[in-house]
Amino acid sequence: MREAATSHKFIESSRKPGEECGVVAIYAPTMSGMLRPTIAENTELSLRNLQHRGQDCAAVAIRIDHRIIPVGGLGQVDQALKGGKSLVGFGGEFSLGHVRYATSYMKKGTTDKEKEDLRGLAIQPMVRRLGSGEDFAIAYNGHISNISELVSDLKDANGTLTAQEEVTDTAVMTSLIKHRINSGLSVSEALLSVASEINGAYSVAIWGRENGEEKIWALRDPQGLRPLTLGSLPDKGWIVASEEGAFGIVGAEPVGEIEPGQLVEISKHGLEIVQAFPSNPRECIFERIYLHRPDGRLGGQRVERFRVQSGHQLAIEHPVEDADVVICVPESGIPAAKGYASELGIPNEEGFVKNRYNPSRSFLESTTASREDKVRLKISSIILENVEGKKVVVVDDSLVRSITMRILINMLRVQGKAKEIHVRLASPPIRWPCFYGVDMPNQKELIAAHHSIEEIRQIIGADSLAYLSLEGLLESAGVTDSKLLKLGGIASGFCDACMTGNYPTPIHKLLP
Ligand code: SF4
Ligand code: MG
Repeated sequence: MREAATSHKFIESSRKPGEECGVVAIYAPTMSGMLRPTIAENTELSLRNLQHRGQDCAAVAIRIDHRIIPVGGLGQVDQALKGGKSLVGFGGEFSLGHVRYATSYMKKGTTDKEKEDLRGLAIQPMVRRLGSGEDFAIAYNGHISNISELVSDLKDANGTLTAQEEVTDTAVMTSLIKHRINSGLSVSEALLSVASEINGAYSVAIWGRENGEEKIWALRDPQGLRPLTLGSLPDKGWIVASEEGAFGIVGAEPVGEIEPGQLVEISKHGLEIVQAFPSNPRECIFERIYLHRPDGRLGGQRVERFRVQSGHQLAIEHPVEDADVVICVPESGIPAAKGYASELGIPNEEGFVKNRYNPSRSFLESTTASREDKVRLKISSIILENVEGKKVVVVDDSLVRSITMRILINMLRVQGKAKEIHVRLASPPIRWPCFYGVDMPNQKELIAAHHSIEEIRQIIGADSLAYLSLEGLLESAGVTDSKLLKLGGIASGFCDACMTGNYPTPIHKLLP
């Protein structure tokens, strides 16, 4: 089975579901209202706010005459761009940036050097030189399910694959777009022609020149599986980013989400939006549950509001009678715990204390410390007075493998001396892999794929366990029609496949 990843040579795995990437594209004719003097440095600031979407590598593309050069490297934005120092002194009005999700576990036997090289090849924005002598750059978030078809197209055109095309889907797509531009299509025509052949999920931005005119094109897939949003900057500037959270730091105002199937073209003449493909929305509900920043909006709904609402709904569906206190699993459970507690009029207190200075990624990967030690390093202790002798409700957004929850419940019992522990989760059980760019753990590691709720309760050691229903989840996302609620996510414009197995695109070839 191909993993839900942009990289076909990597074996993907992670402790929590992770985003595959964050994208930002900016046109700013002046830097008015921005914190930094150049566009590249401002792009780096925006990328920092998308860091949660990918920590493996980060880069910002800069222009030097006809050349576009990606500047960046492995690691988080700060490390990859040397605190922004790598970008000082590069001018211009356009820029493109990208953070890429970690692909930390590769094939057995891959040496450290090989791992570094493979990760290095996956850095975006990716740049290609056209026959015209111009460069263009691409930043991409998503997953191409039918990559083998695109690979054979590319082999037809090229004969062989480069090392980079062997490693990442994005490289295959970028090279195909290059071929089509070289054979006479405009940039947007080439983008749309390749996009029309993609089965999967994508939000993509391209920066290049067409007829001597510098432009950014941004496209969201017809199902809107991955997010993409538009903001405005002073002096007729524009920003496109995976999340609205990337806007404020560069002084941008949110304009609205780019709708599924829309192509946005940005140049000094302004902004043009066309419905390039018929919209068939299947927004990833897991963006609202966990992936997105709380300050973003999806389907017009503020993500933090959704999460609080899902907590209210959870309390209506699964109240714990006479509970003394509601605590959250930090930080993913904070808003749902707030909603849960307020619905039932129970105090919402801090239970677990997170270590502000988490162990570094490399420490977590290289050390032989047990999983338990790693969780304990992140969530270091308990506030005793808030839980001792109490009937405690623990709220989190979701339960994936259950390892963290099991350890936390043990901490609550032993260290916290809690009387009873009731776990409430603000989403339905996760049972299926994602094929749309979210790095879910392997299906065999998804606890709910193989165990009943009662078995999971026993495994984690809780006194009771309950999940929000799918209807309750969709209701929290603003679906009100009772017929639609019964039909599940797809009917109301959502992907909920990791919970239901109802995939919104043909994936039969991909299932094991
Ligand atoms: Fe999102 Fe789950 Fe659908 Fe993947 S399968 S796009 S994580 S809702
Ligand atoms: Mg969590």
